[in-house]
Amino acid sequence: MTTVTSPDPWTAFLDLLTKAIVPDWSGLIVLLPFLLLVGVLGPIMSLIALAWVYHFLTKRRARVRVAEAEATLAVLDAGGAPSYPANTPYCPEHALIYPVSRVRCEIDGADLAVRCPVDGTVRDAGTQTCNACGTRFVLGATSTSDLVRRPAGPPEGGAAVA
Ligand SMILES: [Zn+2]
Ligand SMILES: [Zn+2]
Repeated sequence: MTTVTSPDPWTAFLDLLTKAIVPDWSGLIVLLPFLLLVGVLGPIMSLIALAWVYHFLTKRRARVRVAEAEATLAVLDAGGAPSYPANTPYCPEHALIYPVSRVRCEIDGADLAVRCPVDGTVRDAGTQTCNACGTRFVLGATSTSDLVRRPAGPPEGGAAVA
């Protein structure tokens, strides 16, 4: 019995045919998680990424809009006291500087204060005319020539008090 080592041609042919037709299942099973990842998770991930990018963009826009309408913390001067720009509403209690449209602190609802850029008198932000110099201001204006609005009345230097 020495012919057992060499298989007959027919068996060898069948063996070859089997290898060619039947796919390598173990190889496919190894690839399956990868295929799942690409075919299922891929689209999901790209959708999530798109949603995230969209969310990020809209959120950024929204944040910019909010920042324009929100109070900012006052800057401390050399002595450690908060310094408030003139002609801008602020809350001395919380050291917050408010946009010009606000008259109340959004923390405690207290009336905001405004400092007169001409004489430094502090008045209520809801009051448009300075108590001391009687000048009416456009809140938020930065240039003195822009912000001073003389009240209607006799022109300056007319019938002046000596
Ligand atoms: Zn406040
Ligand atoms: Zn004034």
